[in-house]
Amino acid sequence: MTFSIHGLAVAGGIAIGRAVLVASSHVDVAHYFIQPEQVEAEIERVRKGRNAVVEELQRLQVEMPADAPHELTALLDVHLMLLQDEALTGGVKHWITERLYNAEWALTTQLEVVARQFDEMEDEYLRERKADLEQVVERILRHMKGVADPVTPSASSPRRKTQQELLLGDTQDVPLVLVAHDLSPADMLHFKQSVFAGFVTDVGGKTSHTAIVARSMGIPAVVGARAASQLVRQDDWVIIDGDTGVVSVDPSSIIFAEYGFRQRQVELERERLARLLHTPAITIDGQRIELLANIEQPGDSAAAVRAGAVGVGLFRSEFLFMGRSGKLPDEDEQYRAYCEAIAGMQGLPVTIRTVDVGADKPLDKGHKDGHLNPALGLRAIRWSLADPAMFRTQLRAVLRAAAHGKVNLLFPMLAHTHEIEQTLAQVDLARAELDARSVPHGPVQLGAMIEVPAAAIMVRSFLKYFDFLSIGTNDLIQYTLAIDRSDEAVAHLYDPLHPAVLRLVADVIAAGQALGKSVCMCGETAGDVGMTRLLLGLGLRSFSMHPAQILAVKQEVLRTDTRKLAAWVGQMLDGNAPAAAQAS
Ligand code: PEP
Ligand code: MG
Repeated sequence: MTFSIHGLAVAGGIAIGRAVLVASSHVDVAHYFIQPEQVEAEIERVRKGRNAVVEELQRLQVEMPADAPHELTALLDVHLMLLQDEALTGGVKHWITERLYNAEWALTTQLEVVARQFDEMEDEYLRERKADLEQVVERILRHMKGVADPVTPSASSPRRKTQQELLLGDTQDVPLVLVAHDLSPADMLHFKQSVFAGFVTDVGGKTSHTAIVARSMGIPAVVGARAASQLVRQDDWVIIDGDTGVVSVDPSSIIFAEYGFRQRQVELERERLARLLHTPAITIDGQRIELLANIEQPGDSAAAVRAGAVGVGLFRSEFLFMGRSGKLPDEDEQYRAYCEAIAGMQGLPVTIRTVDVGADKPLDKGHKDGHLNPALGLRAIRWSLADPAMFRTQLRAVLRAAAHGKVNLLFPMLAHTHEIEQTLAQVDLARAELDARSVPHGPVQLGAMIEVPAAAIMVRSFLKYFDFLSIGTNDLIQYTLAIDRSDEAVAHLYDPLHPAVLRLVADVIAAGQALGKSVCMCGETAGDVGMTRLLLGLGLRSFSMHPAQILAVKQEVLRTDTRKLAAWVGQMLDGNAPAAAQAS
């Protein structure tokens, strides 16, 4: 049956493919593809986990006191029966063997499949056994976590090609789209090099980090699609319209044809834009504009150069810290990662932002739940300053890497002068520690992110301390308008054009210009072609965005005459003008 689901469009383009459902589980489950030679080992891991649970339950049966309630014994019997059920075990094998899912993913996928069968049962008693099945699977997952390390995906494997080739059955040549309740940023990194043609998640806002990573992958994505993961079934045909946020499920042939046509149009537009790759980004009136890239991993820098970036304006270093079960990267590991990013940029500058975990970027899944209000909690620079030894490890790694190329060091979420002073003192200390060890290090330009209204309002004091500023609109909008950026329920109130936001941005740019210091913008607004003219009109000359957006923004730059924007921009700041720029 054809139906459509509406969510938030976060990464443009059209994806057509079969659905791969990533089930959510209360246990922290990694999702990644394995290599064919790992299939047996993965099946064995599930078998061991299941056997351990069987033994545990049998032991409980034996040790059950004689006066234990009858229901308890019956429940153990049910759990043991479910554990042996072919529907569960056979299905898990299928996902591992046929789809090359890792063991935990296979288990939760099969749980989803069988749980739906339970949902459809008429008998209420049987229907309620779904909860038992979930408990049994979670027990297995917990055992697997303790029993053996999951097979980690090898970063160097030429995944994109081999997996597409190796996916069996009717999916062999069919693109796959991922449908999930939620995906952590760490999950997204696992999927980054995979075969998926698009993403849909039930939750998330336009600038949630899951959306940001999806955008960086350059594939269509829709978030905040509410019940998508409940309504879509494994292997359903799905069309994701990343421009309008519409997800069509089980589409008719007419819809297929229409979207197939649109997909080709998007491709043609991409090819047209590619011609601008070597054109300098200069406005009609001769203003030279710097177009930089946002990256999440060191290996992304080469793609940034290929996309025409003249540097990295934001390396979100926290992605090096995620999904490692709390074991943080040491100085050498970080140093190597930063050097890789620098080498990839071939002499162009790299702005490394110190770790910004917390809120919707937990180190591992589940971490965020412990906080009352994570967006206002111990995140970003607050997290770093709370653990100076960890912070200096990162600073030393960056300073060492700076001996190999142009490096800027950027600090997230500063709000107080005492935070600035503590931060700069830590930089001095890190340098002194390297000197004491006679380890070479290089010069860095120091920058502050302006992403809290307090920082924007007191920007002139910030400028006394820093060489440059970078406006983080994702957070600046979140904190100015009191909108949780990852909550789809308030996504309609998330407004980059709100006059309060525009005035803060305008003031920061003007303050930087007055002191001759560079002001960049690295939030998602910088890569939004609908915002380019307005930002140019506000005086912005440095934009950092996902590489995939650079050429479209460049096209806007080439078409703009900033001398004609003043009146319209003034009206926008007063909240009295239509959003579309009239001047060109
Ligand atoms: C921002 O807040 O705009 C920003 C670039 O930082 P992040 O999205 O990583 O919080
Ligand atoms: Mg931010």
